[in-house]
Amino acid sequence: MNNCLFCKIANKEIKSDIVKENKNIIAFKDVNPISPEHILIIPKVHLSDTSMINEENSFLFSEMALMANEIIKDFNEQDNGCRWVINTGKNGGQSVFHIHLHLIMGRKFTWPPG
Ligand code: 5GP
Ligand code: ZN
Repeated sequence: MNNCLFCKIANKEIKSDIVKENKNIIAFKDVNPISPEHILIIPKVHLSDTSMINEENSFLFSEMALMANEIIKDFNEQDNGCRWVINTGKNGGQSVFHIHLHLIMGRKFTWPPG
């Protein structure tokens, strides 16, 4: 997608603090962190929100999950726990319309969210 911020981050047109990357997935630090460690994990291909997940591309979702677990280990947070968040659509509070998994770590979170 031409004008998508996260596509531009994925193809390095826009600079980000990259945490991990492989063929299909890239993880980078959120520019406005809400916890001591706040990382966004995205597929490199443009999927605007969770409604775009289908049988052909759902493997990307698995790869995002595997990368999340690798990052949790890299940050030594596996015993502390953390939170995985996907905001989707208007009511979900999504602001960047390229699917992304928020991996937030390093403090205790409350429930329910706002
Ligand atoms: P959403 O609200 O769509 O779930 O999350 C979008 C996230 O992207 C927000 O947490 C926001 O701080 C982050 N973000 C917005 N613009 C940029 C940017 O240019 N670079 C990085 N690294 N994060 C961004
Ligand atoms: Zn995109």
